[in-house]
Amino acid sequence: MAGFKDIIGHTQIIEHFQNAIKLDKISHAYILNGPDLSGKKMLAEAFAMALQCEKKGTEGCMECHSCKQALSHNQPDIRYVMHEKPNTISVDDIRRQVNQDIVIKPYASPYKIYIIDEAEKMNVQAQNALLKTIEEPPAYAVILLLTTNADMFLPTILSRCICLNLKPVANEKIRNYLMQHLQVPDYQADICMAFAQGNTGKALKLAGSENFQELKDSAVQLMKRIKDIDVYEMGEAVKQIGEYKLSIHDYFDIMMVWYRDVLMYKATMDINGLIFKEHVYDIKHQASKSSYHGIQEVLNALEKAKIRLNANVNFDITIELLLLTMKEN
Ligand SMILES: [Zn+2]
Repeated sequence: MAGFKDIIGHTQIIEHFQNAIKLDKISHAYILNGPDLSGKKMLAEAFAMALQCEKKGTEGCMECHSCKQALSHNQPDIRYVMHEKPNTISVDDIRRQVNQDIVIKPYASPYKIYIIDEAEKMNVQAQNALLKTIEEPPAYAVILLLTTNADMFLPTILSRCICLNLKPVANEKIRNYLMQHLQVPDYQADICMAFAQGNTGKALKLAGSENFQELKDSAVQLMKRIKDIDVYEMGEAVKQIGEYKLSIHDYFDIMMVWYRDVLMYKATMDINGLIFKEHVYDIKHQASKSSYHGIQEVLNALEKAKIRLNANVNFDITIELLLLTMKEN
């Protein structure tokens, strides 16, 4: 948990929250809408901490009793709504943890705050149950719905919430943060930044990945020779990638950055914007051998492979299909 000042980017949302505190115009329900790892929870928690802070500023002081409790996730008036089934927030979850709980006044704080993460997992019954509370909330209630997809909400929910959409964070901000605060070397910061596409959490995840260097070397080595690999050698290549099964999405992301470099070089003939600068010879070579259509096919195949693995399609088959697409394009 962190304060507003520790959050990278998202300045408009932070301003919105801080203005609301300043003007004492807190809404009863907010939606924070943005991709996984983009910072929804950090924003929600920083807002909750500021609202409950005993010093009543627009930012949690991090020192009072309430802030300390909030920082260790033990503030009794900041409630996290849990769900037992991994893919559903049920009507029972909402009734027990929100509707029946919200009528009890806060213990010691001005507000009673509910953070519902993955709120798109509420089924229709759960949303209807929540709607009753959002329609007539107690004065002290604040409900924060965090979601990757606000389109999943009933229009009746949407119309009663303030919807804040997270925007991608500027690349330079992410890069600076990685280098200055985490001492990530510049070539690694470049790759993390490029593949994260404005998603700070994603960049941090890759930067913190222990085997980043190994992962990158393996992927680069493979991409350099993929066009020359014989079909009967494919099994070997699949095995090589299989060693990184647990970090396969990071592996794919590195590949994606590589092919974006190839595409960029092909389009601009400029090496300055490249992420894999140290492999410029191979990037040029690949750009000359591939068509725009072919490179796009590979990028699409990478997206498809991600989706297949998420849907539990066989790992070896998925990788083999991907490698064949890379070889042929
Ligand atoms: Zn405080």
